Amino acid sequence: MKITPLEVPGYQKVARAEDPATGLVAFIAVHDTTMGPALGGMRMWGYESEEAARFDVLRLARGMTYKSAVARTGLGGGKSVIVATADKKSPELFAAMGRFIDTFNGLYITAEDVNVDVPDLIEVRKATKWVTGLPREQGGSGNPSPYTARGCFVGVRAAAIEAFGSDDLKGKRVALQGPGHVGFPLAQMLVEAGAKLVVADVNAANVERCKKELGAESVAPAAIYDVDCDIYAPCALGATLNDDTIPRLKAKAIAGAANNQLLDEKKHGAMIAERGIVYAPDYVINAGGIINVSLELEPGGYREERAIEKIDNIFHALQSVFATAREKGITTHAAAQAVAEANIREAAAAKAATV
Ligand code: NAD
Repeated sequence: MKITPLEVPGYQKVARAEDPATGLVAFIAVHDTTMGPALGGMRMWGYESEEAARFDVLRLARGMTYKSAVARTGLGGGKSVIVATADKKSPELFAAMGRFIDTFNGLYITAEDVNVDVPDLIEVRKATKWVTGLPREQGGSGNPSPYTARGCFVGVRAAAIEAFGSDDLKGKRVALQGPGHVGFPLAQMLVEAGAKLVVADVNAANVERCKKELGAESVAPAAIYDVDCDIYAPCALGATLNDDTIPRLKAKAIAGAANNQLLDEKKHGAMIAERGIVYAPDYVINAGGIINVSLELEPGGYREERAIEKIDNIFHALQSVFATAREKGITTHAAAQAVAEANIREAAAAKAATV
């Protein structure tokens, strides 16, 4: 395997690997490890070019630094990508990826991401110990989705306080887009708390399940932005907050699990603020999964009660973001960046003081 280090300004360590024997072409990017080793998932994607893959891994690694910094997981930000479509999976390919990860000596720790599932990570684990997100039976923390949902639920409550002055969800109408692995358990918690649910999903079975099990109403996927509601919970894909959708929203709060919700962070963050809508920044509210996985690395290993305690703290993390936005007159997205940067500075100062 040929490993080539790449100099990227602002990044701690980036490398490209090519292994002709297995067909592996991959990148690992470690953005920042001030707060701890860089943990972020492994993505497998048929990028149109290596340049596109490199761009993606850098963007995702940086995003993980901010997500973990706000959540104070004790981790830094990193990510890896394999440049191939999912049909190219083989045990040998993942073993080669494991050997590549191992050369980072624990600076980068991997987990699941798009197109990379537990069986793939089991192959990776044969070549390196720097793997999280394995099944409970193997000492891992298991499926992160219910934990992400729990974090989103406390996040909806924090957003409700900011928007309505109370976290009482009784009678509040929530338009939830994408009741999937995260969206469905979130929908369950919302209904238990007394919210009225309206769902939309391109997968009809997921809609039927919400109607049958939760008494939800439903609308066509494209109509979710027009629903008369108090809260919009995007739990499907990214970029659903854009020029077309923001003017249509009736909600006073946006709080959901999807990654990269704002098509343009600056422009659409500002449009939402101008409309007086409370926006719970995606990487703050959806950090439950990464928090859960981070607990695998604690001395003594994973403990669910500790995970829940930390996930429930997303409520306070969001309150701090909302307060910063109010005090500084900035968007909540910008406030989240400011909170992340302050936490990183604090960790750097604490490290310097102990040297
Ligand atoms: P999922 O695929 O299980 O659920 C997504 C749902 O959205 C599916 O039911 C899908 O049919 C639906 N959907 C797709 N396109 C749609 C559209 N145009 N309109 C309506 N519905 C649509 O995925 P998930 O694991 O639940 O993740 C949901 C979101 O949360 C993603 O953006 C993911 O990146 C993010 N996220 C997930 C986790 C996690 O722990 N799974 C952690 C952090 C962030």
